[in-house]
Amino acid sequence: MLDTAIEYLRGVGTVKADMLKKELAIHTFGDLLTAFPYRYVDKTKFHKINELSEESGEVQLKGILRKLDMLGEGGKRRLVGRLRDETGVIELVWFQGIYWLERHLKVGSPYVAFGKINSFNGFINITHPELEEVGEENAEAARTFAPVYRSTDKLNAKGLEAKGRRRLTEALFEKLTPADLPENLPDYLLQKMHLPSRYDALRWIHFPPSQKELDAATNRLKFEELFYLQMRLLQSKHRRKTAIKGYVFEKVGEHFNRFYKEKLPFELTGAQKRVIKEIRADLGAGVQMNRLVQGDVGSGKTVVALLSMLLALDNGYQACLMAPTEILAQQHLIGISQMVEGLGIRVDYLSGSIKGKKREKILADLKSGDIHILIGTHALIEDWVEFQNLGLAITDEQHRFGVAQRASLWKKSKPLPPHVLVMTATPIPRTLAMTLYGDLDVSVIDELPPGRKPITTSHRTENHRIRVFGFMKEEIAKGRQIYVVFPLIEESEKMDLKNLMEGYEVLSREFPIEQYQISIVHGKMKPADKDFEMQRFVRGETQIMIATTVIEVGVNVPNASVMVIENTDRFGLSQLHQLRGRVGRGADQSYCILMTDFKLSTDARERIATMVRTTDGFEIAEADLRLRGPGNIEGTQQSGLLNLHIADLGRDGEILRNAREIAMRILEKDPELQHPLNVMMREQLEKDTKRGRHWGRIS
Ligand code: ADP
Ligand code: MG
Repeated sequence: MLDTAIEYLRGVGTVKADMLKKELAIHTFGDLLTAFPYRYVDKTKFHKINELSEESGEVQLKGILRKLDMLGEGGKRRLVGRLRDETGVIELVWFQGIYWLERHLKVGSPYVAFGKINSFNGFINITHPELEEVGEENAEAARTFAPVYRSTDKLNAKGLEAKGRRRLTEALFEKLTPADLPENLPDYLLQKMHLPSRYDALRWIHFPPSQKELDAATNRLKFEELFYLQMRLLQSKHRRKTAIKGYVFEKVGEHFNRFYKEKLPFELTGAQKRVIKEIRADLGAGVQMNRLVQGDVGSGKTVVALLSMLLALDNGYQACLMAPTEILAQQHLIGISQMVEGLGIRVDYLSGSIKGKKREKILADLKSGDIHILIGTHALIEDWVEFQNLGLAITDEQHRFGVAQRASLWKKSKPLPPHVLVMTATPIPRTLAMTLYGDLDVSVIDELPPGRKPITTSHRTENHRIRVFGFMKEEIAKGRQIYVVFPLIEESEKMDLKNLMEGYEVLSREFPIEQYQISIVHGKMKPADKDFEMQRFVRGETQIMIATTVIEVGVNVPNASVMVIENTDRFGLSQLHQLRGRVGRGADQSYCILMTDFKLSTDARERIATMVRTTDGFEIAEADLRLRGPGNIEGTQQSGLLNLHIADLGRDGEILRNAREIAMRILEKDPELQHPLNVMMREQLEKDTKRGRHWGRIS
């Protein structure tokens, strides 16, 4: 039944069917069924005409149609009616379909009118109201929540405006019986969660008798969606854990212990210790590790990575660390080489820019096992890179790598795949993490090393610019360095580059070359030039670095203490947070200055207020999720996981947590869903897979 082509529905001819297909991708009965209303209008109340005002919004009135006049000429021709109730009169105005309406509307008859209040020259009216004659049969029928569906102008013109569209769904439900919409959640769950049946929920989501049923239906359908998503993720995690064996790192050996005792320059934070413990447990379990380590910028992920790599070395395996850019990879190389100095560990580096003899030697030494730790860019995963025995592969700044790239790490080791550790500095709200990384194990470093001074963040507009320059000069006089960042987005690349160059000129005038050195870095530069400019800043030869967001990821210059962000309103929250994380890495008080024009959208204002209020990455991520919705959170775009139909990860965290917990409990007892009560869930999952609604592996 649900696969029946839409043209077989009463009231849908070929023309309407074509329109529905083209405009809304509704091809079948099933598509129409799952095209849920995006809002409802409350038709349970009638307004009194004398109580209406410009701000009344959508209203429903009941009255007698008193007059009907054709007014105006040509394009301005319109039909004007007057509706009177016991309190007053209001004008109803139509511009389209006026001759048909004039013939069919009956002056003197009672009508229910529904529409949005307009104001025009101080008078209020309703333009293009829905009008229905009050007869015996519909006197009560109108008193419900009426669904409003997504539509387009073309559909409206074809008689599929609000009412027409509603009729289609009505026609659909005349055909559908409960047998067409079988239950897919076991009875024990419905009972326990107080959920309505699937049939009721689907009917009520379109035609809720009251708010109560609407809430129940929404809740049920959201739960169902999130529950099956979690079942799928958890089942694939479970299967991987039982099917994919991993190397056992049972020893904590000399490398780890010596580093810990002799080299580690600080006490680990409690969070770092906890995460290392979690990783150690994974590495000893005989199952391939797939763990995500989330930690805000500066939370100290590098040393966690290093300690994990030392465990691999202690057990006779090699390890590698992959970063998304050459700059970052080199910083890791320098940092890690320093930390392990004197421990007899060979650390080497590979990227696309390493060529010829040097490269051959690295590849040979990697294969012979002379190189213990290899650090580099995605060059590491090229086919011709062969390890002797790779035991652990770490990727830093996870969201820059595609799924396929990470998957190819798996093939770098025989007979078993290496353990995989993924590190990300993009804090992800818990609800998103449960979904995006639902089949990974997740560790969170939720504590910053002690002694960090919180970054002072302020919002400044153009009229403060001179003062901002003055402040920058003071900081430079104290020996500090400064970032000035401009937005650059592909769509307006030319304008953005122009802005950047203008900004550079202004700064060059304000900070003359006799006294100040300025680096400039943007995406249009050759990699070698970029690197050169970057290195000048890293070495402290330049005081100011003007850049587009290329510096966003991971760059570490502890002496930089000021981050000036231009056109702040054009950045998303997570980007701003990443950018701000470039400062505050040394012992000095650091500052972040958010520059904008005076005029700002509400949204931008809220983003900026959030930045000024907090430096907590998770709080910022939650705000980002609220403001922009889950589809726009950085790192989530490619993921089909967020194409949810009715649930909203930004709002439905509670339902998600519930769904995940219940799914976990069911799978714990019955991982392959073989119990008679659970078979229906297995069938649902298989059906989804067949329909191609599979969400792929994350790692
Ligand atoms: P991120 O998580 O952003 O990669 P890093 O690993 O680069 O952070 O660490 C940021 C800085 O904090 C580094 O200079 C590192 O040496 C230092 N650090 C890391 N852990 C600690 C700690 N437990 N105590 C003090 N400093 C630490
Ligand atoms: Mg890092």
